[in-house]
Amino acid sequence: MEIPKTHKAVVYDKPGEISTRIVELDTPAPGPGQILVKITHSGVCHSDLSLMTNTWSWLPEPVKSGQVGGHEGVGVVAQLGSSCEASGVNIGDRVGIKWIASACGNCMPCLAGADGICLNSEVSGYTWPGTFQEYVLAPAHYVTPIPDGLASEVAAPLLCGGVTVYSALKKSRAQAGDWVAIAGAGGGLGHLAVQLGGRGMGFRIVGLDLGNKESFVKECGAEAFVDITKYSADGGSTGIADEILRVTGGAGAAAVIICSASNAAYSQALSYLRFNGTLVCVGVPGEAEPIANAYPHLMVGKQLAIIGSNVGNRREAMETLAMAKRVATTPFRLEKVQNITRVFEEMKGGKLQGRVVLDLQSCT
Ligand SMILES: [Zn+2]
Ligand SMILES: [Zn+2]
Repeated sequence: MEIPKTHKAVVYDKPGEISTRIVELDTPAPGPGQILVKITHSGVCHSDLSLMTNTWSWLPEPVKSGQVGGHEGVGVVAQLGSSCEASGVNIGDRVGIKWIASACGNCMPCLAGADGICLNSEVSGYTWPGTFQEYVLAPAHYVTPIPDGLASEVAAPLLCGGVTVYSALKKSRAQAGDWVAIAGAGGGLGHLAVQLGGRGMGFRIVGLDLGNKESFVKECGAEAFVDITKYSADGGSTGIADEILRVTGGAGAAAVIICSASNAAYSQALSYLRFNGTLVCVGVPGEAEPIANAYPHLMVGKQLAIIGSNVGNRREAMETLAMAKRVATTPFRLEKVQNITRVFEEMKGGKLQGRVVLDLQSCT
């Protein structure tokens, strides 16, 4: 494979605003233990938008100007650095690059199998050059192999959105056959949670979202849908809870996965959980507020749990891809790299349905 001296990359040129620029960068040579990946596809995640526009006020520092974004990349191994033999990765293999670009393997979270929260990690598209470019360096031991038979454009969004919700569903304490509520079911995370949780893990899914997402959410496999716009204004959360209790035969949901970045979704959730129910926090609102209605008497009386789930670990990424090969079929939108700014504008306006995947082969 011939490797060009320079390649095209999408950078954030005005952090704080929705603005990107396509630039020409030097193509790096892989160091010891590193590989050079020729990216063919990259999903566009809501976290990229949050980073670019500095809406996560709780981050240690804002994204820098000139940062290459993106963290859901799939590509082909183009070059191996020295000392890559033990990884089993070969030139021509298809591999995936996640939010966690590299993990140390040595800190307490890594040793506990929680490399998604490694203390010494690099983050693709934030502290490490991301996947919105034609070539990127990655540690040979930490890329995710893409299984044969799973198209690269299908695999890309699964490397952040997919593994994130899969990990959350696994932690939810729900069993196959239980009702699981997905808040933000029609969004980039939610529609993957509906598919993996329903068709993949055997949960009965009730999706919550804006009414115009109903048919999409049901196509993804949700058995029931709650249009949250019907319950706005005061008394809204009671109405949503009543509706979910009705759908679930009076018991409530065994778990709820909050896939939206909405404080309201969090404050509603505890009121429609079943006994031993789990609220799984995934979507992170920019303006952080405590979870409302987490009263000790309610938590104790119904033995509820509130847990947080980050992006999942590398093993879960592999499990997600294996499961998705069987169940994830929802159409995504393939877009040219040149249209990325418009994609972010649509994302901000809540106009996207499911996921957008950039075709990096469209750069040239
Ligand atoms: Zn993401
Ligand atoms: Zn670590």
